[in-house]
Amino acid sequence: MRVLIVEDEIRLADTLGQIMVEQKYQADIVNDGEAGLDYALSGQYDVIVLDVMLPKMNGFEVVKKLRQNKNATPVLMLTARDEIRDKIEGLDFGADDYMTKPFVPEELLARVRALSRRQGEVLLETLSFSDLTLHLDTYMLHSGLKSVRLGFKEFEILKLLMSNPGMIFPKESILIKIWGTESNAEDNNVEAYVSFLRKKFHYLGSHVTIGTVRKVGYHLEESDAS
Ligand code: CA
Repeated sequence: MRVLIVEDEIRLADTLGQIMVEQKYQADIVNDGEAGLDYALSGQYDVIVLDVMLPKMNGFEVVKKLRQNKNATPVLMLTARDEIRDKIEGLDFGADDYMTKPFVPEELLARVRALSRRQGEVLLETLSFSDLTLHLDTYMLHSGLKSVRLGFKEFEILKLLMSNPGMIFPKESILIKIWGTESNAEDNNVEAYVSFLRKKFHYLGSHVTIGTVRKVGYHLEESDAS
């Protein structure tokens, strides 16, 4: 197992390193948030132990940037006792577990082991609506046991609709958001891709459809038909 330790209190960082080495884990130690992010992005770690209060970039920023970069390495955050707000914030940004200092080595190790087992189960970003799940990293759309890969424009349109469920998007606003203002694309490009998406929903056996509100636009809805 390979563990990255990001901790600016040098004594604590060394202690953490020793605890890992005693378990025959490989441990790299860095002492600020920027270095922590650089090392973490290499993707070679099974678990990252990350302090919250760090020079250059705090632990919340580090975990947020990691997840934005589609890095799903499990993160155990460390912080001072009683900082409950930190806990909520950290988990919001994509940390997987949390420990308050001071802690006993056995508990730290137990949590590191638990997190390393979860590697691979830690989900990268997805969007869900009813029985559909869209994986933002792979463009795969899942429903039940079936899945299908979306083309880039299909993906962009569906991501827009799924990010704002219940909202009705006029064709013009989809055009501008997906194709941009400089493009020569027209309303019927949107119609074409919406029809591709509907076919893929149908193939998946999904209960979701893209509804048309006449003269207004498109939105996601659950149909009773399928
Ligand atoms: Ca610190």
